[in-house]
Amino acid sequence: MAFIKPMTLVTGVLLTSATAFAQQIKVADVTKTISFLASDEMRGRQVYSPEIDKAADFIAAEFKKAGLLPFGGSSYLQSFVMVSATQQTINAQADGKEIDSKTVVVLTSKPELSLSAANMQVATIQAGDNLFSKAFEYAGSGKSLLVKVDESFSDRFSRLVFLKRNFFKTDADIVFVLGNIDTKNLLIKATHTIKENKLANVVGVLPGKKLKDDYVIFSGHYDHIGTGKPENGDSIYNGANDDASGITAIIELAKHFKAQKNNERTLIFAAFTAEEVGGFGSQYFSKQLSPEKVIAMFNIEMIGTDSKWGKNSAYITGYEKTNMGDILQKNLKGSAFTFHPDPYPDQQLFYRSDNATLARLGVPAHTISTSKMDSEPNYHKASDEVKTLDLVNMTEIIKSIGISAQTIISGKDTPSRVDTKELR
Ligand SMILES: [Zn+2]
Repeated sequence: MAFIKPMTLVTGVLLTSATAFAQQIKVADVTKTISFLASDEMRGRQVYSPEIDKAADFIAAEFKKAGLLPFGGSSYLQSFVMVSATQQTINAQADGKEIDSKTVVVLTSKPELSLSAANMQVATIQAGDNLFSKAFEYAGSGKSLLVKVDESFSDRFSRLVFLKRNFFKTDADIVFVLGNIDTKNLLIKATHTIKENKLANVVGVLPGKKLKDDYVIFSGHYDHIGTGKPENGDSIYNGANDDASGITAIIELAKHFKAQKNNERTLIFAAFTAEEVGGFGSQYFSKQLSPEKVIAMFNIEMIGTDSKWGKNSAYITGYEKTNMGDILQKNLKGSAFTFHPDPYPDQQLFYRSDNATLARLGVPAHTISTSKMDSEPNYHKASDEVKTLDLVNMTEIIKSIGISAQTIISGKDTPSRVDTKELR
């Protein structure tokens, strides 16, 4: 089908690439890939399930077929260990006196912990801070910390135990204390039942011809939320749009760019795990490379339904944070596609997907989506099934992402960095 208006065609470059896209990215392939990832057999691709491992193997096989190389190793799977800790006992003493254990939350991978806070590095969560995102940040820092939490959070402090459910395996211990406890002589003893679980991103690379140390990332997340209460007899949350659509896109783009053989910059295709439970996959990934090398990140989330503007259009989250959106729009001029700034700024979508992790490191990292976040009827429901999606339009959106990326891939354009001081 035509996706370029011949009348408005401006350059020969666009014609060549558009023709190439038209040939290589096919609705039939898109349908096949997304139908597998969102099938009932995958049972909603929940973290720690056997089915998510099958999904990972499938993506790895597709990357291999596409001709990608593994990233930093011999496997496409970038594996890491997560810990889930259940507290059995805790005892906290300040100056020899027992203090209320409800004012202490400990994050540790050790079944038996006995520590003195005397020499620990101190961090704070102050009044007015975002308690949970700050706590989450410290939890992922890999550092042993004594975190003093302001008294004003007393009503919510105990909810910090949610951090124990999922965290990176680490030798570091983090102690959160509420209010003005004298921590100089604080002694803590705790016992936990520790469960270790493996997770894996799936990552493939197409090395650049010239600018090998310049990375352009195409990503999505392949985990979803598993199974739940039956809705009309259906208990499987297939996650067809969220985010089997994004994974399908990166597989198709990988095949396409491999066939093009003209990427000057190195392209990295990343299928992240554990987005839905805290973005752990992208956090781990972000520590396996130096963020300065990442020129741009195209995170693709929920592109299976028509956007609020109808077909052939999508939006870019955090549009104003870099000039990447302007570059993408420029590259789409003369095509039938339009990319808009995110029309749902109240929903903070920029911070709600894997792009945010890289953006916090300064990377121009945005999510491209078509999802009508104010009215998408199947969002996070069992009814997020392939049959609800517009796969013809989705195929066109995948092509448009490829076209929009061209001058970044060729090294002609380099988006401005995210100013991390401006992020919330
Ligand atoms: Zn998602």
